[in-house]
Amino acid sequence: MDLDDLYQEIILEHYKQPKNQGIVAEADIEVDGRNPFCGDEIKLTLKIDEGTVSDVKFKGSGCAISQASASVMTEHIKGKKVSEVRELFQEFSHMVRGEEHQHQHIDDMDELSAFQGVSSYPTRVKCAMLAWNAMKDGIERELDKHGE
Ligand code: ZN
Repeated sequence: MDLDDLYQEIILEHYKQPKNQGIVAEADIEVDGRNPFCGDEIKLTLKIDEGTVSDVKFKGSGCAISQASASVMTEHIKGKKVSEVRELFQEFSHMVRGEEHQHQHIDDMDELSAFQGVSSYPTRVKCAMLAWNAMKDGIERELDKHGE
């Protein structure tokens, strides 16, 4: 298997120097994600203010794709409304699975597009989705709590 296409420069850069590392103080959402197939782990903390992700950080270990995906994700959801974040989740999820999707939020120049090569490697989809699934679970749980 030739991983060269997969481990693009963007992914390696984020893996080596991940953004938004750590734990958000007084986080509204704290969620742990695990991908036993690859041994990837992540702890994600978010702060939500008036329906907007005001802060997000992560800590984790695992393969380059899982950690780079978490890093790029935090950069893209910070400052966004929860409703936009859900749309972004859908779009990213379709993209990494190689499914048809609307190019509403992610264009070819976007760092998130670096992960579209993952769709050729089904076992890697779980790595790319780890942080996203954790984020979505955490947000859904938080919204349920408030009866929204
Ligand atoms: Zn992995």
